[in-house]
Parts: sequence; structure tokens; C-alpha cells
Amino acid sequence: MQALVIFIVCVALLAWFLFSKKETATVNTPVPDNFRQTLQTYVGYYRALSNENKILFEERVKDFLSYVRIHGVKTEISDTDRLLVAASAIIPIFGFKDWKYYNLKDVLIYEDAFEAEGFRTTGEGRNTLGMVGSGTMNNIMLLSKHSLEQGYLNKTDKNNTAIHEFVHLLDKSDGAVDGVPENLLDKKEIVPWLKLMHESIQEIKKNKSDINPYGTTNEAEFFAVASEYFFERPDLFQQKHPELFKLMEEIFKQEPQIK
Ligand SMILES: [Zn+2]
Repeated sequence: MQALVIFIVCVALLAWFLFSKKETATVNTPVPDNFRQTLQTYVGYYRALSNENKILFEERVKDFLSYVRIHGVKTEISDTDRLLVAASAIIPIFGFKDWKYYNLKDVLIYEDAFEAEGFRTTGEGRNTLGMVGSGTMNNIMLLSKHSLEQGYLNKTDKNNTAIHEFVHLLDKSDGAVDGVPENLLDKKEIVPWLKLMHESIQEIKKNKSDINPYGTTNEAEFFAVASEYFFERPDLFQQKHPELFKLMEEIFKQEPQIK
């Protein structure tokens, strides 16, 4: 009898342990009630969507927030900041119906620029505005709050740090951050894409391009800065870089618009 009681208690404890573990493992960021209004106010890409696509975008935002945690590091973050992170995540993948960021669990938000090695937020040498972690920092993205917000408040530049970092994650999904999203491109498009990237990098080096010079760092950075431009100022990008625009439409399976 005593053995039976002990057995039942053990089973109950095990069940409780497994159940509560499952509970705490459900990561999520609460979706604020006014999230549609926030998207409408800040996100030009969302404003330009049809009503039908707005609903799809909202669902994707909610889904993203259900599996990614967003934390402020030594800084307060608002519901708007969290939504801007989610919007930046969904914009580059909106053309892929079932895409999830399996390579992301946490987004850490710093007040402003931080130092890339030790993540210092004070002192000299802080010039990183966003990064995708690797090694022990795998599955983690770091962002500057100031840059995240400026990505949406400044409507005339071609920059959006958060979109830049999510494009790196997309690029990383085939195993390498190399500017060639191999699982998004048809095999026959890889060589033309590489050729066009190299030509475009040369144009930046010769001062004949309005693409962010940071894109000359390597192919991965070129892909990320060109994507910022593609999603921030699609009309201008199409007008100035028609060939790149066409191939990037094929990569992202969408033609972005901004309103
Ligand atoms: Zn980058």
C-alpha cells in the first residue's frame, strides 16, 4: 500500500514537472491590443498592403511574437519597439507562406550602439547597431533601440537596421551568411546573382552607386544593405537599380511597396 502511494506521488510529481516545464518552455511576447494601429502608424510597408494582406501580415506578426522573446538590456522597451522588431522580421519573409525563423529565439535590445565583442554599452569603440549572434550567441539577435526606431521614423533614408539583421538570418538559413540565399534562389539564378552583386560592389567602390558603402565589406553585407534599400525605398531602388530589383523580387518572392 505504502509503495503504491509512493508510486502515485512519484507519477504525480513527474507529471507536474513535465507539464510545468512545457508551460515555461512556451516562449512568447504578448501582442498588445492596439497592434494594428501601431503597424498602421509606423510601418509604411504594412500601410501599402491590401486589406487581405494586412490580415495575413498581422497573423505572421502574432506568430513571430509567439516563438521569439524580446528583451531590453539596461533599457526599457515599449510595445511599439516589440512590434517594430516583429514587422522587420516579417517584411523580408512575407513572400514565403510558411517561413519561421527556426534560427532565432531571443532578440536583445540595447539603448544605442554597443561594442560587438563584449557587448559594452558604455565607453569607446561602440559602433555596432545590430548583429546576429554565432557560437554561444547562436539564436540571438542584438539590436540598437535607436536604430530600430529610426528604421521606421526616418522615411527618406534607405536604412533599416532590423530588416538588415533579419536578412542576415534569412541568408544564414542555408548554413552560410554569404549573400547567396541558396534555398531561395533557383540554381540557375545563383551565378547571375553573384555576377550582379560583384558588379554592384565595384560600382559602390567607384563612387557610382547610391547603395550604402558598407555593402562593399563582403557579399553578405551587400545583400543586407541592398535589401534595406529594396524594402525601404522600393520605387527609388527599382528606378536606380532595375536589374538588382528584378532579381531581388525573385529572391524575396514579392514586390514591396511603401505608403
Ligand atoms: Zn550586416
